[in-house]
Amino acid sequence: MRRRIADACRAAGRNPAGVVLTAVTKTQSPEALASALATGQRVFGENRVQEAQAHWSALRPAVADLELRLIGPLQTNKAADAAALFDVIETLDRPKLADALAAAAGKSGRTVRVLVQVNTGAEPQKAGVLPGDADALVAYARGRGLAVEGLMCIPPADEAAGPHFALLRKIARRNGLGTLSMGMSGDYETAIRFGATHVRIGSALFGERNRVETPSID
Ligand SMILES: *Cc1c(COP(=O)(O)O)cnc(C)c1O
Repeated sequence: MRRRIADACRAAGRNPAGVVLTAVTKTQSPEALASALATGQRVFGENRVQEAQAHWSALRPAVADLELRLIGPLQTNKAADAAALFDVIETLDRPKLADALAAAAGKSGRTVRVLVQVNTGAEPQKAGVLPGDADALVAYARGRGLAVEGLMCIPPADEAAGPHFALLRKIARRNGLGTLSMGMSGDYETAIRFGATHVRIGSALFGERNRVETPSID
């Protein structure tokens, strides 16, 4: 996968060092996590706080340079747990959640790093702030002291992803944001062409997931 990402970078005229592989380990076994770690992989994405705790709490102290990224929806009442476990929360999508993360940061004395998730396709069932409200949420989160590093999106499954990635990049640029988490197993090459800095890859690394993924709030 690293070689494929590097090939996609070269095809897009980009430096492969500019794209981070986030290995998505939701539903994976401890053996799968261990084999990924053995390859030197250190950046991982998880969808749910509880599953991430089960996967990583024991490993965290043993792997110094581990980086955990929350890529699934987050409930306000789990914000403190999420802020304690994850290095970056990629799914900030509403002011109330920014408030909860800011409160968690205040208590722990840690800066909370976030991406704002944008619902680029304005799909009713999908998490993320609407594109027209993204600038305001970025400003709000910054005002609450959160370290807003960039944006994340999941394009509609039945549409070409390119225009959605282009929109995300445009919103990031006008807000001075450098991180673009976009692209999954099926569309990471397109995402790299449109400037992704982080691609979130699950099934292309680990095979099909063990159980059917239902959209759920953690
Ligand atoms: C599961 C998931 C991924 C990985 O998807 P694959 O198609 O298996 O690569 C990426 N991003 C998010 C938000 C996910 O929930």
